[in-house]
Amino acid sequence: MHHENPKTNKNLKGRFAPTPSGRLHFGSLTCALASYLDVKAKNGSWIIRLDDLDSPRVQRGASENIIRTLEYFNLISDEPIRRQSDNLKLYEEIFGDLIHKNLCYKCECSRKRLQSLNNVYDYRCRNKKLSHEKTSVRLKISETNNVQNFIDNIQGNQETAHITSDFIIRRKDQIFAYEYAVVIDDYVQNITSVLRGADLISSTFNQLILHKSLNFNPPLYSHIPVVENKDGEKMSKSKNALMEFSKTKLSILYLALDWLGQNPPAELKNESNQIIIDWAKKNWCPKAIPQLLSKPITEKAQIL
Ligand code: GLU
Repeated sequence: MHHENPKTNKNLKGRFAPTPSGRLHFGSLTCALASYLDVKAKNGSWIIRLDDLDSPRVQRGASENIIRTLEYFNLISDEPIRRQSDNLKLYEEIFGDLIHKNLCYKCECSRKRLQSLNNVYDYRCRNKKLSHEKTSVRLKISETNNVQNFIDNIQGNQETAHITSDFIIRRKDQIFAYEYAVVIDDYVQNITSVLRGADLISSTFNQLILHKSLNFNPPLYSHIPVVENKDGEKMSKSKNALMEFSKTKLSILYLALDWLGQNPPAELKNESNQIIIDWAKKNWCPKAIPQLLSKPITEKAQIL
């Protein structure tokens, strides 16, 4: 059941959108928690969405596992959980509009060729008018839809580190690209605040270009540092699952708040998830989140 709190701020809505490619780990849980607090601190609503479009990456049972883990931590979606696979028709429809407006084109360049260009596309297929099936489709970037900077609510002004060039919205295997699908998902679900890991900052430029091309009002973006494991690598859903969490005496939410620079008081260390979340909602301070692209897992949390 999803009861809407009458005091809910309708103008504020956030989301956590994991790819069900494995179980949650300390990094993804921290991201879920931060995205939740960022809107709940101001009485906004928060939803979970499952990014299951990239089917080769989807792992059986991962969606259920992620939802159950979030539930264990009292991170509950305010709306029924949607999956990207529920939106396929809509992706097709909007794709049709882009074709109709001549805003995209087929590209047959091989991965090898793109690598030789350092992934900065040189527009080779833009005017070829290819018609065969096995191609990817790229969005045309022009002066009217280009975006080269944006203000990140945590990291500050961001400028493209590389040259923007026409990018893929539908892959050769006919699966819509993440950047394309996520823009439509956020738009149709009226998301106003996107908080996620800083590894997606560079993708945000393309997402903003798509919002502009489709005349959508983009959400406010916030990127938190990516949690690195002891070896300085990004944690992975398959290797660093939270399975061990019941063995630790310290609350994982406490450790996540501590990692996020929120200074949770020591008395909260062994408190219930709900008490910790209530404290965090009242004391949420996005300015205290470190302005870093990545940050190692704290020693206290290493047992995870
Ligand atoms: N599904 C993406 C991931 O798990 C995140 C998408 C997003 O937050 O925009 O990495």
